Amino acid sequence: GSLLIASGLCKAYGPTTALDGADFSIHPGEVVAVMGPSGSGKSTLLHCLAGIVTPDTGTITYDGRVLSAMSDAERSALRRTDFGFVFQFGQLVPELTCVENVALPLRLAGVKRREAERAALGWMERLEVDGLRAKRPGEVSGGQGQRVAVARSLVTRPRVLFADEPTGALDSLNGERVMQLFTEAARSANAAVVLVTHEARVAAYSDREIVVRDGKSRDMMQELPA
Ligand code: ADP
Ligand code: ADP
Repeated sequence: GSLLIASGLCKAYGPTTALDGADFSIHPGEVVAVMGPSGSGKSTLLHCLAGIVTPDTGTITYDGRVLSAMSDAERSALRRTDFGFVFQFGQLVPELTCVENVALPLRLAGVKRREAERAALGWMERLEVDGLRAKRPGEVSGGQGQRVAVARSLVTRPRVLFADEPTGALDSLNGERVMQLFTEAARSANAAVVLVTHEARVAAYSDREIVVRDGKSRDMMQELPA
């Protein structure tokens, strides 16, 4: 079955149509790349799927539940327990150290500090940012901060991981490592990864591409010959 189904999603900001009827479904274990030119609605699509932005019309169904039929409290609980995020900007809490940032989703889920930070360091090691554990986000480079954010998105082992240009600040080796970790997360936990990218090199790691053009999306799978 499908983990996430988008049906007829439309979203406008004043006169600007960001999404104009997006239809597709995402399956467990799959890494999906959302591609398209700048301004075509990729981030809006990701934010709608994650329940952060409410579409004007259309529905999103996650694990059999319609997001718009849930209360705000239910949606934010779901985001906390089931979803992971890597946002494009301003995602780390500036007052916390890097390890505290990575441990934060576990702390919010009630995990004790020592255990949360041990798990956090494990992911930081895999992204080679464990040396930054005691630094604050303002003291690390853009690429380092992005890798810390990726570690934070994986620490709860989410069922759906949403990532907006997660490799945008990374060199190709680190970009490759992030995509390998995402793929591993999808395969081992039967999770889905939905990532926005404009880089073909990054999309090459995905199982499938959803192309957004002027707010319309086409599922490339449906266009392949049988
Ligand atoms: P992409 O991620 O593909 O660059 P976005 O989803 O960010 O595209 O934006 C799609 C369109 O919607 C753009 O024209 C953008 O300017 C507009 N848009 C996005 N977010 C907002 C917002 N909060 N307010 C007004 N316009 C917005
Ligand atoms: P990256 O590819 O990781 O973004 P940069 O070329 O931006 O690397 O930075 C190289 C080094 O410079 C980093 O290892 C980091 O120590 C330091 N650095 C870069 N930007 C910052 C910053 N805004 N604050 C503190 N240190 C920085």
